[in-house]
Amino acid sequence: MPIIKVGVVGFGTIGSRVADAVLRQPDMKLVGVAKVTPDYKAKLALEREINVFVPESSMDRWEELGLKISGTVEDLIDSSDIVIDATPGGVGLKNLELYKKAGRKAILQGGERGEAVEATIVPQVNYHEARGKMVVRVPSCNTTGLVRCIWGLRREVGVERVFAFLVRRSADPADKKGGPLDSMELNPVRPPSHHGEDVRTVLRDLSIFTTAVKTPVTHAHVHMLLIKLSKAIPRRDVVDILAEERRVLLVPESLGMRRTSDVFELSRHLKRPFNNIYENIVWLDSIHCDEGWVYLAQAIHQEAIVVPENVDVIRAMCTDVDAESSMNTTDIRLGIRKGIL
Ligand code: NAD
Repeated sequence: MPIIKVGVVGFGTIGSRVADAVLRQPDMKLVGVAKVTPDYKAKLALEREINVFVPESSMDRWEELGLKISGTVEDLIDSSDIVIDATPGGVGLKNLELYKKAGRKAILQGGERGEAVEATIVPQVNYHEARGKMVVRVPSCNTTGLVRCIWGLRREVGVERVFAFLVRRSADPADKKGGPLDSMELNPVRPPSHHGEDVRTVLRDLSIFTTAVKTPVTHAHVHMLLIKLSKAIPRRDVVDILAEERRVLLVPESLGMRRTSDVFELSRHLKRPFNNIYENIVWLDSIHCDEGWVYLAQAIHQEAIVVPENVDVIRAMCTDVDAESSMNTTDIRLGIRKGIL
């Protein structure tokens, strides 16, 4: 089996999780990570024998601190078949020059939007569109969560339109960026939010309206969706479709799943790296059907949900492995669940 050499540029919330997921794949080698700040995360990465590459201008600082580096960011790019760019929104597009210069493929994250992006991919839907591309984007956590949830119903029954109301976490747990502390912020005040348009980069002709409110929490988003199906089907069929959908986990209230804090506690009991919840967590008892309309509520662990998508897009861009085989490998290696908890 050919081994894909992967470099990760940006070792924050998403980059550290994607690097960890790459280390768990049988057909990938993590060449290393590019990091700007010489902090405890760098020290712990080195303890895990992850190679760390830094900007040339800061090499002396790292050496002064006794942190062993493996080279410059350019060295990492040169040694990799593909680069996952997980730098803050907007930086990835600027970094593209580096990847282009080295002739390397690149995967950008949800914060990047621009003409340089050749395709936006949610593997369940359009894995094959990443083939032969040099610059591909994995969309944001909210978009990925919406697409995954709508896709099964659209594929199996047909979807006429979607209204989605997003209750957003305002910052990640480790963020210093702030957010509303004792307030909720209409984000935007004047709808729609950008999420619907982003969903249409994958589900192109979907009629979808989204809007959002930011809340003073850090651990998850909650989406409340109203989905108009092309025909009315019984609730049990909706449950069956969602229970069959990859990376969607239905959780019953009877098992004590009511709050986002229950979802976070679940993540600890699953004993996954970084307490990741890779799945959409759909509250089983929230599913309500009425004359072709489906209502449901789901929680999205914003720090983790795009991790399996990045892994699959690496395979889509660098191999001829088909979508199902890639997603099977990813899901097994990351212990991803589906069905009813
Ligand atoms: P983050 O701020 O947690 O991490 C970014 C890291 O990149 C930081 O460690 C920063 O020091 C580093 N960095 C900045 N410039 C760099 C450079 N030139 N070279 C190397 N490293 C550099 O950001 P994040 O939350 O991981 O977000 C990364 C991307 O993922 C963004 O596009 C974001 O929109 C997207 N995304 C974030 C989330 C989330 O909830 N955090 C979810 C889905 C997608």
